[in-house]
Amino acid sequence: MYKEKKLVEELILKYKTSSPFELCELEGVKLSFKPLGTLNGIYRYSKRNKFITVNIDREIGHQRFICGHELGHSIIHPNENRIFLNTTLFVPNKREIEASRFAVYLLVEYYGCYENIPWEYLKLIV
Ligand SMILES: [Zn+2]
Repeated sequence: MYKEKKLVEELILKYKTSSPFELCELEGVKLSFKPLGTLNGIYRYSKRNKFITVNIDREIGHQRFICGHELGHSIIHPNENRIFLNTTLFVPNKREIEASRFAVYLLVEYYGCYENIPWEYLKLIV
């Protein structure tokens, strides 16, 4: 079993929700929505505070996935700043794959939403 699945399960058991937006709130992550151009989202760690920015110009299902991805970073790699690019532009590295796998477990297995999640992400958990 992938470790991301266990992390997602623990989080849902703890907070009784699978909404990435609510989970950010409950985890004390400061979540904001802004136009980010070609970026999907940003995770930033500063002075022990965690910040997630989601591109407000993306469709809501996609925003939920971006939020889940950044939340994955905040849990798996909390001390590293990350940006979430359009993945077609580059080969994702290990940390990006881990964050995306976390988001897919959260949204597909628990939130029950496949909307706007490309196959290249869905296949991370099969
Ligand atoms: Zn990322």
